[in-house]
Amino acid sequence: MHELGVVCEVLKTVQKIVEQEKVSKIEKIVLQVGELSGIVPAYLEECFPAAVYKTPFEGTKLEMEVIPGEVKCKDCSEVFNGLKHNLKCPKCKGEHLDALSGREFIIKEILAC
Ligand SMILES: [Zn+2]
Repeated sequence: MHELGVVCEVLKTVQKIVEQEKVSKIEKIVLQVGELSGIVPAYLEECFPAAVYKTPFEGTKLEMEVIPGEVKCKDCSEVFNGLKHNLKCPKCKGEHLDALSGREFIIKEILAC
């Protein structure tokens, strides 16, 4: 149920913006989700209708941009997609990795009607 909590946090933030900007309805929320953020976009999408049910956000669309999880091997400096290789260096099989990207979880855009 981790993702439902995340959706609620996102909606709280959006709600604040709605109040500040005095807009009445939000058409679309665009999120950037990194592959290494620990948040599964598919679950987020699944939770969203339940989270907005009977709220002012009913009818709001959720869009997600997935940021690939690029990591760098500390042993041989190979750069690769962490998830594709199970967080193991494909070159030297090392597991000492630095995340270069993919940890982000950002509200990128909010479109008002
Ligand atoms: Zn390596």
